[in-house]
Amino acid sequence: MSINFSEDAGSEIITTAASLPEDSSEGSLRPRSITEYIGQEKAKGNLEIFINAAKMRGEALDHVLLHGPPGLGKTTLAAVIANEMGVNMRITSGPAIEKPGDLVAMLTNLNEGDILFVDEIHRLNRAYEEILYPAMEDYAIDIILGKGPSANSLHLDLPQFTLIGATTRSGQLTAPLRDRFGVSLRLELYTVEELKRIVERSAGILNVEIDPQGAYEIASRSRGTPRIANRLLRRVRDYAQVKADGTITRKVADEALSRLEVDKLGLDALDRRMLRAIIELYNGGPVGLETLAATINEEAVTLEDMYEPYLLQMGFLTRTPRGRCVTHKAYDHLGIAYMGQQSMEL
Ligand code: ADP
Repeated sequence: MSINFSEDAGSEIITTAASLPEDSSEGSLRPRSITEYIGQEKAKGNLEIFINAAKMRGEALDHVLLHGPPGLGKTTLAAVIANEMGVNMRITSGPAIEKPGDLVAMLTNLNEGDILFVDEIHRLNRAYEEILYPAMEDYAIDIILGKGPSANSLHLDLPQFTLIGATTRSGQLTAPLRDRFGVSLRLELYTVEELKRIVERSAGILNVEIDPQGAYEIASRSRGTPRIANRLLRRVRDYAQVKADGTITRKVADEALSRLEVDKLGLDALDRRMLRAIIELYNGGPVGLETLAATINEEAVTLEDMYEPYLLQMGFLTRTPRGRCVTHKAYDHLGIAYMGQQSMEL
């Protein structure tokens, strides 16, 4: 058994929303149809209308931009869209496109109606973005062959296709690219009830016995993120098999997750370190993100993409023009007396 359930096992960050090698079996848990896709009612409601309209017209779906923190189901939703439209989806990502030819090859290999999914589209080389403009607008690309006076331009028509871009940072997209997406959908963190349904569905697929309180316990510690919920479920399943009779109850989930240092609200060691640093070193804030990141020896982007969304949603952190501030609620959660910023300055 490679998993360590000892007291210090929580030093690895299992609550990161980023994909870990152990998530490689995620594929089997992915919902395939829009009815299986739990939550995100607003995005789904809009999409259903666009999908039905495109189908009625017999046209490709308009280009779609999906944005939101990692692990919320952007890739899954793109695959659901392909399934609902009855077309194939090709997958690539911004950083995987290393030369213009990579992008041209992907585009020219598409069939009528196909979907091209570009993950982390904000990381696509700006110079190659220009290939996408006519491709998205006119379903065509112009390729320049050769150099200087003898250069020729080759015009290639593309099939009608749909580009689905996914990004954790829509603010980093250039305006011309962003404007070419007809549909822009923001995915939100999931409620505990929605995550509970996701945990129960995944447990069914994995053939794990779980009672409603056990599912609730995992859901409420999953930081609003399905990827984390599924990962915690697998960890708790292993614990239930080794230390209990295999069934996940509230008690089993609580024991397993406490050992992994995931607290009652899903905060992990790094969340606590970040909140404590703001309280102890910056008197509760405000403190700039870069300064905070340097203080706790983390990347600012990691804090911003993976940690802040949940802490903001939970009301533990606020963002002000002068930096991040910790709230009264966070003091309570950490068991630190709140003296108010005024009195601490005296
Ligand atoms: P992203 O692309 O936003 O990083 P993914 O689409 O890879 O996230 O989702 C991570 C995992 O979470 C998927 O494998 C899937 O099992 C699960 N998941 C995501 N969204 C949902 C959902 N709405 N309902 C059920 N499971 C979901």
